Amino acid sequence: MSKSLKVLAVDDDMINLKLLKSMLMKNDDIGEVIEAKNGADAISVLKERHDIDMILLDIIMPVMGGLEMLQIVRADEHLKQLPIIVLTTDETKKTEALEIGANGFLMKPVRAADVAKKISELTI
Ligand SMILES: [Mg+2]
Repeated sequence: MSKSLKVLAVDDDMINLKLLKSMLMKNDDIGEVIEAKNGADAISVLKERHDIDMILLDIIMPVMGGLEMLQIVRADEHLKQLPIIVLTTDETKKTEALEIGANGFLMKPVRAADVAKKISELTI
């Protein structure tokens, strides 16, 4: 399982996205990080690539936010099992995110150890 996971990281803040990517690339289980800048962009990636193992998803984004994207993924026959961890600064969104099908919820700024723990929980 070492270096085998392909993770789709979705965030409209390019600095956050780069920081998240560099954090994820230090994780021994992760072999590739694919970036998307909003929910619509992420859906396009999922249509092109069928090898994504997990999504890390920001909530507040232009064009399509994270919760809307989450609903689309959970309604899609081929994508609905994909593990999704929501990352946000807004703790009030936690219940809603989990209710519509997030597998995990982490508060920003995320810590590498917390991300690694969630990823390992979801990939057993
Ligand atoms: Mg955002």
